[in-house]
Amino acid sequence: MYRQIVILTGAGISAESGLRTFRDQDGLWEEHKIEDVATPEGYARDPELVDRFYNTRWSQLHGGDVEPNQGHNALVRLEREFDGELLIVTQNIDDLHERAGSHRLLHMHGELSKGRCPRSRQTFLLKDPFGPEHTCTCCIPAQRLRPHVVWFGEMPIGLDRIQHALDTCDLFIAIGTSGTVYPAAGFVDTANHHGAQTVEVNLVEADRHSQFQYHLQGKASDIVPRLVDQILSGNVIKDNIG
Ligand SMILES: [Zn+2]
Repeated sequence: MYRQIVILTGAGISAESGLRTFRDQDGLWEEHKIEDVATPEGYARDPELVDRFYNTRWSQLHGGDVEPNQGHNALVRLEREFDGELLIVTQNIDDLHERAGSHRLLHMHGELSKGRCPRSRQTFLLKDPFGPEHTCTCCIPAQRLRPHVVWFGEMPIGLDRIQHALDTCDLFIAIGTSGTVYPAAGFVDTANHHGAQTVEVNLVEADRHSQFQYHLQGKASDIVPRLVDQILSGNVIKDNIG
């Protein structure tokens, strides 16, 4: 039925695995100033503070009690069993999609598990938390790695590839995204413009709710497995997926 699917995932799917989100009530942005920990200027002022902030996130992610949930797992099943094209675009910087087993994945806001050379932009997998001892191997002298995270005022990663996928997809699904952060919030408009079916999975009504043709309200871990069943069985998605 569908040939090309683009799936956008956001904080909601990670929150169900127990990770703290940035934007919700009690979110991380209530405790930290965005300009201090999530801007290039903040990092230039105090790199140690920024490293500590992401280290806390890193430790939570690797603390042993955070695992992919049924929502992540269902997307792996889709990747394995779906015959057409699939691209998962995530706004999340955690590695829960990878841990579940997803490969056709693009981290548009970067990855907590990687550091990046500020000069060459080469990325390096981090086995332990951030610190000044993490330097690149691509430059002489070696450069201190910065978090491989897209900060406010920086360009998201892979926009050309995402745009191309949206231009040609016939199904666009947004899972657990607030719909407030551009350019991701505008992906649904692009997909609609190109005639794709657009489906939203969210615990609450998101800001860009009205842009989606279909709305499935509930937990990603509950709805996404059923959604994947529908797609794999060749059915068209409707408001009620049983
Ligand atoms: Zn380098």
